[in-house]
Amino acid sequence: MKTAAVKTAPVKTAAVATRQLKLMVRTHTEISQAVCALCGWPNLTLKTGTGLYDGTVHLGDVCKLCLRGGKRGAAMRTRAHAMELRSLAENGVSTPRNGGGDHYSPWLCRYADFLDDVAARLENMTEWLPRPG
Ligand SMILES: [Zn+2]
Repeated sequence: MKTAAVKTAPVKTAAVATRQLKLMVRTHTEISQAVCALCGWPNLTLKTGTGLYDGTVHLGDVCKLCLRGGKRGAAMRTRAHAMELRSLAENGVSTPRNGGGDHYSPWLCRYADFLDDVAARLENMTEWLPRPG
């Protein structure tokens, strides 16, 4: 199967052999505001959003900055977000953003681990091209 994606380098053997993540453009039924699945920034979506999919599982929508940064830029932003969440969890600081409360810490750590995993998988993507869903 040929794709329009430009292959820049031979695919490296990934340490973690997982299936490819993919980007798909979806049409929303209404205007929604969510946060980017990768960097956590507010992501205002107008009718269409670019979702990140693990197989058929929708991990969340990706903001324009992450999309523009390519897979490496997006992976960097994802790792920065994971670090931010870990420091929130470790410091246990109540902020309006996390709603405060210690019960968020385990969840934040798990989510940070998940984001690190996603970041590694982003770098292994062979194609960074949103497709019509
Ligand atoms: Zn983002």
